[in-house]
Amino acid sequence: MQAELTRVARLTTMGRLAASMAHEINQPLGAIVANGNAGLRWLARTPPNFDEARISLDQIVKEGHRASDIIDGIRAVFRKGEERRAPLDVNELIGEVLRLTRAEIQSEPISIRTELLNDLPDIMGDRVQLQLVFRNLIVNAVEAMSSVTDRERVLHIKSAITPSGVRMAVEDSGTGIDQDSIDRIFDTFFTTKPHGMGMGLSICRSIVEAHGGTLSASRCHPYGSIFEIDLPAAKMDDR
Ligand code: ADP
Repeated sequence: MQAELTRVARLTTMGRLAASMAHEINQPLGAIVANGNAGLRWLARTPPNFDEARISLDQIVKEGHRASDIIDGIRAVFRKGEERRAPLDVNELIGEVLRLTRAEIQSEPISIRTELLNDLPDIMGDRVQLQLVFRNLIVNAVEAMSSVTDRERVLHIKSAITPSGVRMAVEDSGTGIDQDSIDRIFDTFFTTKPHGMGMGLSICRSIVEAHGGTLSASRCHPYGSIFEIDLPAAKMDDR
């Protein structure tokens, strides 16, 4: 029975890994194909436009790196000991992810408000994994606001200090989460989206918990949701 349990646990982990990789990697792959096609069109012009073709190729390289970073990050979640933990500045991490997700956010009419507290303690973490968590929360927030037309779409990113470390929050003015779903959104495969996989939040929670932290969601009033990540501050002997 123990062997069977181990086998099932491994299969579940593999399934989660495969499904979340597929989900995450689709974005850079889509961008690679689009830029590849654009590059070919620039080269097919008479005369060929090499400058524009070079820009497309640069994008392809960038997106290729992004895909491999995603694979590295997800792999690391399941392979303890191979993680690259280092002291991290949470505000810096937030800035990096906002830069990485700029294209996704800018395609929608969204205002971004940041309220970042200076002089936060560092946390110990794997940069790529935590970027993945933060990126997922931002993409979910943007998706939750995509159908909103009767109010401002606001993505509110905050960082704050807590008695044990640091809190990062992603708040949106989107559809919100109904009472029935709120306890289930972190379950693997729970999704309310027609093409959703329901993997994102369960992977996010595993990553945050592996860092000794918590990830929680609440409804905002009168609308929207807030996701909060609490992480412990790095200890002096971690550095
Ligand atoms: P997916 O995005 O593939 O559905 P997730 O695990 O990321 O998978 O999210 C699970 C579900 O949680 C979503 O389908 C949605 O119903 C809900 N959810 C996540 N983030 C938000 C949000 N910011 N606002 C409202 N609902 C959300």
